[in-house]
Amino acid sequence: EWQIEAKRVTKLYPKPGSRKEPTAVLDGFDLRIEKGEFLSLLGPSGCGKSTFLNILAGLETYNGGAVLVDGKRVSGVNKNVGVVFQGYALFPWLTAQKNVEVGLEVRGIPKDERRERAAEVLKTVGLEHAANRLPHQLSGGMRQRVAIARVLAYEPEILVFDEPFAALDAQTREFLQAELLRIWEAGQTKKTILFVTHSIDEAIFLSDRIAVMTKAPGRVKTIFDVDLPRPRD
Ligand code: ADP
Ligand code: ADP
Repeated sequence: EWQIEAKRVTKLYPKPGSRKEPTAVLDGFDLRIEKGEFLSLLGPSGCGKSTFLNILAGLETYNGGAVLVDGKRVSGVNKNVGVVFQGYALFPWLTAQKNVEVGLEVRGIPKDERRERAAEVLKTVGLEHAANRLPHQLSGGMRQRVAIARVLAYEPEILVFDEPFAALDAQTREFLQAELLRIWEAGQTKKTILFVTHSIDEAIFLSDRIAVMTKAPGRVKTIFDVDLPRPRD
C-alpha cells in the first residue's frame, strides 16, 4: 500500500533576471513510499530534496505530474504530514513545554489536552526533566528533540525530516539516530518516514530503502534496499 506517490513531478523556478526561461528543479521525479516505511533521500546539494519535502508538506506548489498522499492529491498544508526542519525553529521565548503546545494550539486542541500531550511527547523524547527550560538553556541535541516532540504531538502519519542532525556533533547525532529508531519502532502504528540526509552512513543505519537523486533537475536515479539488520540494544 503506497502512502506517498510522486509521479513525474516537475517543479520550475524562474531564473534570476529572466522572465522567460524558468529552471527545472525537479523533472520527472518519481517516488513511492509504503505505509510504515523508513525511506532516506540522498542527492547532491541543490538537487531539489527540500523542494520535494516542501511540496509533500503542501508548503510549495508544483508545475506538473502528481503528488499523492493516501491516493489523494496534495493541495495545501496536510496535517497528516509533520515536518522537522534542519534549524529546529523553536520560539526562543517559550519553554520546551510551550514550544510543543503551540503546535497543538494552532490545530485547535483544547488547553488541558495540549498540556497533557506535550508532557507525554517530551517524555517520549527523554526531556521530561527539561520541560520548563528555554531553548537557550538546552543543548543542540535537546533542541532537536523538542522539535521532534512538537511534530510527534499532533500525531501525523507521515514524518518528514530535512537533515535534522546535520548541525550536531557525532556523539549527539548517533544518540538521536538511535532515539529516532526507538520512537519509530515503538509506535502502535509505524509512521511513514521520509528522511533527507547527506550522510550515506546515516541513511544505511536508519532506513528500509534509500533513494538517490541526480543533480538538478532532480529525479530519482537509484533505489537501494537496505538489508542490513539494525543494531539493537
Ligand atoms: P536540496 O534540498 O537538494 O539542497 P533545494 O530543494 O533546496 O535542494 O533546492 C533545489 C534548487 O532550487 C536549488 O538550486 C535552489 O537554489 C533552487 N530553489 C529552491 N527554492 C527556490 C526558490 N524559492 N526560488 C528559486 N529557486 C529556488
Ligand atoms: P538546503 O540545501 O539545506 O536544502 P537551501 O540553501 O538550498 O538549503 O535552501 C534553504 C531555503 O531557501 C529553502 O526553503 C529554499 O526554498 C530557499 N531557497 C534556496 N535557494 C533559493 C533561491 N535561489 N531563491 C529563493 N529561495 C531559495
